[in-house]
Amino acid sequence: MGLLFVEVLPRDATGGAAVLQCRRCRVDAASVAAILSRDFHGRLGRAYLFDRVVNISLGPNEDRYLRTGRHTVNDIYCICCQEILGWRYEKAYEETEKYKEGKFILERTMMCKQAP
Ligand SMILES: [Zn+2]
Repeated sequence: MGLLFVEVLPRDATGGAAVLQCRRCRVDAASVAAILSRDFHGRLGRAYLFDRVVNISLGPNEDRYLRTGRHTVNDIYCICCQEILGWRYEKAYEETEKYKEGKFILERTMMCKQAP
């Protein structure tokens, strides 16, 4: 196995907010303070929307029909344990959904929360 470089989110830059980590291997994924919306639905239930997440790799482009219409998405995988944590919106086809492009969904059930 090669060396793996894991990004640790700076705790002082999160404004004292909790950090969401991969439930399986506890590597940082995003700060709770960076959540753009909590009103999203993943495949496994509630999900959060972010501009940026860390320690993930992207799967191939896939077309999916979600509640809000057709989107091209990439699944996102934890770089440490390869668990699927959510997806990234590559392209939205509905004009009203364009704001999601380039943003990330993390499934709430795939996360654990580390208190600040
Ligand atoms: Zn993991």
